[in-house]
Amino acid sequence: MKFGNFAAIAAAGAALGLLGACSSSSSGDSSGGVSDLRAGTWLSGDLHLHSDHSTDAADNPIAELIPEAESRGMGFFVITDHDNHVDGHITTWDDPAYHSDAMVMLYGVEYTTARGHANILGSQPFDDLPMYALRDRTDDAAGQAIADAAHAQNLHLSVNHPLNGDPWEFGFDMDIDSIEIWNAMYRFPTNNDNAVALWDSMLKSGRHLAARGGSDCHHQHTYEALVFNVGNPTTWVYASAPKAGAVLAALKAGNSSISYAPTAERVALAADTDHDGGYETLMGDDAAATGNPVDFRISIDNARTLAAYRITVIKNGETFLEKTVIGEDHLDFTDAPAAGTHSYYRVEVRGTTPEAPLTGQLLGFYGDVIAFTNPVYFGYD
Ligand SMILES: [Zn+2]
Ligand SMILES: [Zn+2]
Repeated sequence: MKFGNFAAIAAAGAALGLLGACSSSSSGDSSGGVSDLRAGTWLSGDLHLHSDHSTDAADNPIAELIPEAESRGMGFFVITDHDNHVDGHITTWDDPAYHSDAMVMLYGVEYTTARGHANILGSQPFDDLPMYALRDRTDDAAGQAIADAAHAQNLHLSVNHPLNGDPWEFGFDMDIDSIEIWNAMYRFPTNNDNAVALWDSMLKSGRHLAARGGSDCHHQHTYEALVFNVGNPTTWVYASAPKAGAVLAALKAGNSSISYAPTAERVALAADTDHDGGYETLMGDDAAATGNPVDFRISIDNARTLAAYRITVIKNGETFLEKTVIGEDHLDFTDAPAAGTHSYYRVEVRGTTPEAPLTGQLLGFYGDVIAFTNPVYFGYD
């Protein structure tokens, strides 16, 4: 993704006296927290960033990026430099600054082709050249060949900004592991609504496909940083352990949600499919389509005191429930997904959060989106 016109935006922000964005906030309690889940840990991270190993982010050294992510409380991190800037010979991981004692580090590249961009993620450094060699293929089988090459090394393939900027033209009839539905600011320069609609169409077709966010941060010290920065947005994963393989497994499963920032509200959707009072089925999980009623719980961790949240439940691509809660950190509902077919439920939370850079909020570029969940699935096996 390329960002233009930021000088004008920065000038507008400066004129309005909007510099110095984030404000402090108080945390709500966690009484709405989901209980009875399998053992695991919530980890926040950013899955799409560029450092000075990309030629368009020369002022973004790893030695500054990683401490910035640590200072924002992230639990995992990856830098995804453009592989075409180094002809597939990735140098990011050889940088002595590429390590952290505080965060789980992943290894990634932005697979940057003339037909679209995708992030390739691994738990260890890997060989980008097998995928790089396929970047100029235009035949119908090219997409799956790229996916096969990534999976041969046990790597995670995730399409970036699928419809905007540099849209993905290899098609989606290929085995991708996740899709970026929230790139940088929600409204600008990418209209992420388009990506969300694309994702819904794939979910409706019966495809289990995890969504994620990515800041696509290229600069921390220029006008770009006035409107977003490291961790805007953040992807939260519920990992079985604070290890790279567990983070990638949770990401692929969709045991994850996306929010403005690591310090913003984190939303979760879970279900009690057996009516024992415990919400054991988490977003990303696939439960049997029995036709029986299911109790759902939407929980908002780090909810602000007396904040108003407009919560929308999307069922099979349509609005199923819309409700504004004030001063609450959870919302329950019950429904009976149809027997013998596939259904999904996912959640969007809108309102305002003090955690997004103020300039981006006031200029309207963030929209009013606070958080998205991945779906709870029924009958997708
Ligand atoms: Zn890109
Ligand atoms: Zn990028």
